[in-house]
Amino acid sequence: MATETENGLVRMGKGKPLAITVVGAGILGLWQALTLARAGHSVRLVEKSASPFTESASRYAGAMLAPGCESEHAPEIRTLGAQGLALWRATYPHLVNAGSLVVAAPRDAAEAARFARDTHPPETLDARGLAALEPDLGGRFARAFYFPDEAHMTTPDALTFLLDAVRMAGATVELGAAWTSPSTSDVVVDCRGMAAASALPMLRGVRGERLLIQSAEIRLTRPVRLLHPHHPLYVVPWDDGRYLVGATVIESEDTGAITVRSALELLGAAYALHPAFGEAEILETGAGIRPAFPDNLPHAEVREGGRRIFVNGAYRHGFLLAPVLAEAVACWLTNQTPHALLVPPEPMAHQPHSV
Ligand SMILES: Cc1cc2nc3c(=O)[nH]c(=O)nc-3n(C[C@H](O)[C@H](O)[C@H](O)COP(=O)(O)OP(=O)(O)OC[C@H]3O[C@@H](n4cnc5c(N)ncnc54)[C@H](O)[C@@H]3O)c2cc1C
Repeated sequence: MATETENGLVRMGKGKPLAITVVGAGILGLWQALTLARAGHSVRLVEKSASPFTESASRYAGAMLAPGCESEHAPEIRTLGAQGLALWRATYPHLVNAGSLVVAAPRDAAEAARFARDTHPPETLDARGLAALEPDLGGRFARAFYFPDEAHMTTPDALTFLLDAVRMAGATVELGAAWTSPSTSDVVVDCRGMAAASALPMLRGVRGERLLIQSAEIRLTRPVRLLHPHHPLYVVPWDDGRYLVGATVIESEDTGAITVRSALELLGAAYALHPAFGEAEILETGAGIRPAFPDNLPHAEVREGGRRIFVNGAYRHGFLLAPVLAEAVACWLTNQTPHALLVPPEPMAHQPHSV
């Protein structure tokens, strides 16, 4: 099935698919499996949890696709994230394309100025403009930054959709199957998240805590971020009056339950956004560990002459960048195309990358 180039790298033969095992059904593994199956490869997706998503970082995500807002963490996110958004829009019909709003309390004006400098918001709204978009925030903030081209989704619905799409694309899905090397596949795409840390010494975990609450008192239609120098917050609307309230960013791999301090900070910030959140019911709490590399950007690292590709380090941007990483791997396997997020095997590491 596989052919080898003159420098010994695995690639797709003329019209011949590769046998690919994708390990891990988090957001990175799901997009890899879907993209590679749709590209004509024979794909097997292996997930160690019998019930999918229960052990993944992905199930805790806010699942915002926010390349503009998130460019405050790394400027590259703007361009790469725009590619991710386009791929989601072509794939997921339930994406909510309502943009994002960013507000700040008057005492945090300096933080708002810093955010605007770092992200260049496309639109700044006055109080009336904000009320027109989100009537329940009317009169609460003098101005807001608006990123109209951003999107969000309901996390469990999106993960379930992708798993179904992987099956429909012809891939085999094995749940409750912990993968161990070696493999008989031509290529293993390793998307184990933090479980791959022993093979990726630079990988670290960044803890993110979040809550799911429900309120009949307030209606928001798009994610709203409340800036704060120490406790920034976002609220992501799901259906049925549910809101995902997140998220802490703590340099820790502790997988324990949310702490009282973090719950107080997050709920206090939600209450500051709108006091009606004080009457909301707390439906669920949880903490996920974001896998991250030192540059806080994800990488697809090609090893063993292309027989093993580690896709990891998505940090705060796993949903946003998963489709971009999947395209990068698919193009690499077809004709060794370089990509900004792809680390080729050692002998080729000098080759230039392009976004
Ligand atoms: C609170 C929070 C909010 C976030 N919000 C956003 C957001 O708004 N937008 C965004 O883009 N990103 C967001 N993120 C980041 C995003 O969730 C992560 O980057 C992403 O989930 C990482 O996905 P992954 O597939 O690498 O890892 P995981 O989701 O952890 O998946 C790894 C999978 O591999 C499986 N596995 C491990 N070992 C094996 C084995 N041996 N065999 C088989 N399977 C195995 C695991 O069971 C797991 O299912 C957020 C993260 C957190 C924690």
